[in-house]
Amino acid sequence: MDTSATSSPAPEAADTPMTKAAPIEVKEFENLYEMAVAQFERAADMTDLNPALRAILSQPKNEIIVNFPVRMDDGSTTMAKGYRIQHNNILGCYKGGLRFSPLVHLDEVKALAAWMTWKCALADLPFGGGKGGIQIDPTQLSRSELERVTRRFTHALGNNIGPDYDIPAPDMGTNAQTMVWMMDTYMNTIAYASKNVSRHVVTGKTVASGGSLGRDEATGRGTVYNIASWAVENGVDLQHCTVAVQGFGNVGSYAARILQDEYGAKLVAVQDHTGSIGNKKGIDANELAGYVEQDGGVKGYGKADEMSAADFWTAECDIFIPAALEWQLTSDNAPNMKCRIIAEGANGPTTMAADKILTENGIEMIPDILANAGGVIVSFFEWTQNRRGETWYLDEVRHKLKRRIADAYDRVTQTMNHYGCTRREATSIAALNRVAQAYDERGIFP
Ligand code: NAD
Repeated sequence: MDTSATSSPAPEAADTPMTKAAPIEVKEFENLYEMAVAQFERAADMTDLNPALRAILSQPKNEIIVNFPVRMDDGSTTMAKGYRIQHNNILGCYKGGLRFSPLVHLDEVKALAAWMTWKCALADLPFGGGKGGIQIDPTQLSRSELERVTRRFTHALGNNIGPDYDIPAPDMGTNAQTMVWMMDTYMNTIAYASKNVSRHVVTGKTVASGGSLGRDEATGRGTVYNIASWAVENGVDLQHCTVAVQGFGNVGSYAARILQDEYGAKLVAVQDHTGSIGNKKGIDANELAGYVEQDGGVKGYGKADEMSAADFWTAECDIFIPAALEWQLTSDNAPNMKCRIIAEGANGPTTMAADKILTENGIEMIPDILANAGGVIVSFFEWTQNRRGETWYLDEVRHKLKRRIADAYDRVTQTMNHYGCTRREATSIAALNRVAQAYDERGIFP
């Protein structure tokens, strides 16, 4: 069966640009969800969205909070708080990652769930948006404690997740092993004959347990394919480009490695939770990834110099990839950034005030819902393979991913030209138009 990508209608590039919406007051929000709503409102204003739809899409459909006990290795019991937010499912099942972090809170997960709705719509996937998390520090738990937290959380969510309803995936602090524990727990709570047709209850699993080849690298690879589209559009030779990355976990390290190995770019600065390092002659991204895996962070890596956080943010580079937390690029550090383009591997790394400063300074931006869509795109491939009982070759996965990213990138460019707006506004508008079209066609029940 043909699994090639399809495009939703996009405005013609040659269209006369539409008038820009009135400038909005740009402020530093203190709440991530308020920022996500402000971004949505901006797109709604620019597309003249009808008020009913504006109200529907301004809040999640379901907000699930579970408190559950976990047995610790020392025999004590601790209570954990878990979230699953289901923002919208007009285009398909709720889809989105699970974050394990002590900083997880309701409004953060609500923002991330809303961005998943827009990300899936922009990538033309038959998915809606969801996100979840547990307020724990995974680095402080043993493997067996992590397993018990994950399994108990899955059990507490019960029928709120399901292979054709809501499909979690890895995010910060979770990985393929977390997903396998979730899948196994879910499979053991349903009818025996349904077990093996329910593997797609989560994506991002290990390959042995039903994951897709290429899912581990997918988000970073998608970020790189976006950068490659931008480079072609702007006549930039990536072989002569330098790269700085914040966050050297799944997304950041794969993006750096692929840019280096397949496009010849040079990694010159890296920051993670342990510190910042730099080397103008280049840092071998593969070697650094091995070091980080062993030592838990970039600090102490011998073939680069330690640098201050201030020096990291002002490092000369062509491409800057934030791939750690939200709200890292702020009005404090944005004015001094010296890169040419920022590709947001992380979700929500740039505040709205910083975004305005960067735009005014001529720094281009590939926004999160486009730049890090590779993860959910390959999650869709995994889900599809599980449903069909298929396994795809790695080159097949990469080829399909590249095509979908290029397609989404082009759609955003066309939307930018049509509306005469920034790339960030265009990503929101293109996604919103797709969701709005589905609502227009289906109407409101009853
Ligand atoms: P990860 O846990 O693998 O890596 C996170 C990295 O961020 C680590 O290198 C960590 O040291 C660094 N970090 C944490 N706190 C920091 C701080 N205060 N300062 C600097 N660095 C810090 O997580 P990941 O999966 O790579 O996710 C990173 C970002 O990408 C998140 O915003 C996530 O939502 C987003 N994202 C991930 C995926 C995916 O498939 N994993 C998909 C889409 C978006």
